[in-house]
Amino acid sequence: MSLRIGFPRALFFYSHFPFWQAYFNRLGIEIVTSPLTTKSILNNGSREAVADACIPIKLYHGHVMALRDKVDAIFIPRMIKINKHTTYCPKFLGLPDMVKGTLDKLPPIIDINVDISNNLWGLWSTCCGISEILGCSRRLSWSAYLEGKRYQKAYQKLLLKGYFPLQAMAKLEGKPIEKHTNSGKLNLAILGYPYQVHDSYISLDVIRKLIKMDVNVLTLEMIPANHLYRLSNNLPKRLFWHFSNLVLGAANYYTLHKKVDGIIHVTAFGCGPDAMVDKLMELEIREKSNGTISFMSLSIDEQTGDAGMATRLEAFIDMLHQRRQKK
Ligand code: SF4
Repeated sequence: MSLRIGFPRALFFYSHFPFWQAYFNRLGIEIVTSPLTTKSILNNGSREAVADACIPIKLYHGHVMALRDKVDAIFIPRMIKINKHTTYCPKFLGLPDMVKGTLDKLPPIIDINVDISNNLWGLWSTCCGISEILGCSRRLSWSAYLEGKRYQKAYQKLLLKGYFPLQAMAKLEGKPIEKHTNSGKLNLAILGYPYQVHDSYISLDVIRKLIKMDVNVLTLEMIPANHLYRLSNNLPKRLFWHFSNLVLGAANYYTLHKKVDGIIHVTAFGCGPDAMVDKLMELEIREKSNGTISFMSLSIDEQTGDAGMATRLEAFIDMLHQRRQKK
């Protein structure tokens, strides 16, 4: 029977899963993902994770718990850097230790470092480390690495074409999907960490709600990576954290290209970096758009109600329609 490795459907899942899925599959390993987030997954994670953790980290614990009896090992890499400029937030750096220190009855954890800072071959080094742990040959690992790169590239192309991450993953697997075509009057950028924005449970399905209101939704994944990195650099000093920079780069992109009527920042409750990102984003949008682009910040926690969120969105959309009419 082949080895089954668990991949929690949280944090870097939305950015990097296609690479790892193709990589492990080529090694002959079955990848098992945790289910879509549910109330019980979030409750379990919130109960077990350290009390001051942000929601995405609590949720990650819940997803690990959903996998622990179903797999032979769980893949929890220590994400350090994927470019030479920025580092993952400290919660990512300590993730495997946090999970091992908090949860019991876990299967073996593959907690290898991913550090691609100054070295183009950094990811290959990580793959070599994994193949050693799993007892696979370098030759097989190389072909799995190339397969992973191909799969990830195809995934990113779909994102640039306007597919949301889960749609793009389904399309890569040949599953039927319903792609929303933009036809509404308003264009709105929904920005935030991918693991917050694209988890429909913790984002209270903000994207679907807006699409139902006939809004064209744009996200940071729809911007070429080189623009995101370049535009995240126009503050006097670049932020340290990888995802925070992407979010700010995306806000700058949509503001400078005047492609949107408004920008909503979905912030993660309990996130240290977000406190700064939210304010910086608001100030940058106001200054660079001369007030032509409206901004709203949505902080979502475990207690945020669906009705309250829908009311805020409706009020924001009404305001944007009125501004459009006045123009
Ligand atoms: S960036 Fe914020 S939300 Fe993301 S893991 Fe770090 S503290 Fe949590």
